[in-house]
Amino acid sequence: MPKEFNTLVIGGGCLGCACAFSISRQLGRQQNKVAIIEKKVLAAGLSSRHSAIVRSANASPMAARMAKIATEQWKSLKTIWGVDIPFERPGAIWITENSLTSATNKWQLLERTMQKENIALQRISKNEATDLCNGAIRVDHDEMYFYEPDVLQLNSSEILNALQNAARINGVEIIEHCEVYDFERDSHGNIVGVHTNQGKISCKNIVNAAGGWSSDLFATIDIHIPVALEPVYVANFLVSFQEVPESLPIIADFVNGAYFRRWLGSILHMHQPRSRSGKEIARSFSRALMNPEGANVIYDALNFSVNPQKLDHYLKKVENRFPKLSKAIYAGGYQSFFDITPDLKFILGKDAQVNNLFHCLGAGQALKYAPVFGELIADLVTKGSTQYPDIDISEFSIGRFQDKAMEQFWTTDTDNNYFL
Ligand SMILES: Cc1cc2nc3c(=O)[nH]c(=O)nc-3n(C[C@H](O)[C@H](O)[C@H](O)COP(=O)(O)OP(=O)(O)OC[C@H]3O[C@@H](n4cnc5c(N)ncnc54)[C@H](O)[C@@H]3O)c2cc1C
Repeated sequence: MPKEFNTLVIGGGCLGCACAFSISRQLGRQQNKVAIIEKKVLAAGLSSRHSAIVRSANASPMAARMAKIATEQWKSLKTIWGVDIPFERPGAIWITENSLTSATNKWQLLERTMQKENIALQRISKNEATDLCNGAIRVDHDEMYFYEPDVLQLNSSEILNALQNAARINGVEIIEHCEVYDFERDSHGNIVGVHTNQGKISCKNIVNAAGGWSSDLFATIDIHIPVALEPVYVANFLVSFQEVPESLPIIADFVNGAYFRRWLGSILHMHQPRSRSGKEIARSFSRALMNPEGANVIYDALNFSVNPQKLDHYLKKVENRFPKLSKAIYAGGYQSFFDITPDLKFILGKDAQVNNLFHCLGAGQALKYAPVFGELIADLVTKGSTQYPDIDISEFSIGRFQDKAMEQFWTTDTDNNYFL
């Protein structure tokens, strides 16, 4: 292994890989361009625990705009990563309460905002929702339904395969079982190398894609990265293929607090959404202080065991939304987490203090953005500015947390109520 690279990417999840592929492609024919340092194996973190859905609607128009670009990139990934990934197009139905509250207005505002961004998200009637689901879901006049047609469903194993192949095609060195535990800095404060259990590795640039581990890792050099973990239980149920249509759209059910999607083999995959309440977000941040092991929970085989209360709770949600289903058969589940920030937005772009450090973290919803985030970070690393004329990532800069007390994020009721 060479001991010096142009760019070191810490973290071999989907975001770290995306950054590495794009940086390497942009750097062209140099030697020892990019290495990914991963403390376990590629995609061993959150990137093996997602639902593989790519969709665009978002309360932040800029995030939605990036997701729309990313959706197109996923469809023709070969142009930027050198590999393609097959996808399905199930569409998604959002279900929310229909009451005369500000929440209702927010959804209607979201619909208008997305239409301005040319993202198809439209309110549909309960009959249309029923038809799209072939009668499988319960609908109610107390609910509103929105349909987003241009939603992709990828497959986790195929994503992993593509990450491995794209690393080879793009000449990215993968250094696995290698944990970064400290940084070496020059007299200007730039990071010139990392210390790992495999020795020191030098670099000109460094990308932080360590997701839920970032906070602890960078605390060693006094860089504060506000990422906390919101636990989430994920369950898969075997259901009859005759009761849930193969074409079932993704169901984002905010009334029941559950996301449902049908996977191959008539598996109903479900988990709860990220919490949007300021109090819950604050709770996740306070828990982080008492849980130094944090994100390592996802490496722990014991967390595959069933939590009977949680399972029961989930089965009730299934029965509520899919009343015609005969008993769903539990087919496995696990504990995971969302790596959240105080405002549920990503941390993207150059560090506020260290000139050659770039952050690419996901706020619990980032697989879908991987290709565009990779391109944006690569532009910053290789050209000093992003090359997408309509994209401004300042809203996601780590600088937004500077000089601002954390509680300001969770006491002001931000867009979080419906940050999709
Ligand atoms: C239940 C669930 C469902 C989801 N579904 C979707 C979805 O459908 N669509 C979507 O877009 N998003 C989804 N997400 C979110 C998505 O999974 C994450 O946003 C994404 O995987 C984050 O990728 P990452 O590369 O930032 O992090 P990770 O995959 O966690 O990668 C970080 C890596 O850094 C490594 N690392 C950490 N510290 C060090 C160190 N010191 N040295 C070396 N390596 C280190 C870790 O081992 C890890 O592999 C879901 C999340 C959950 C929990």
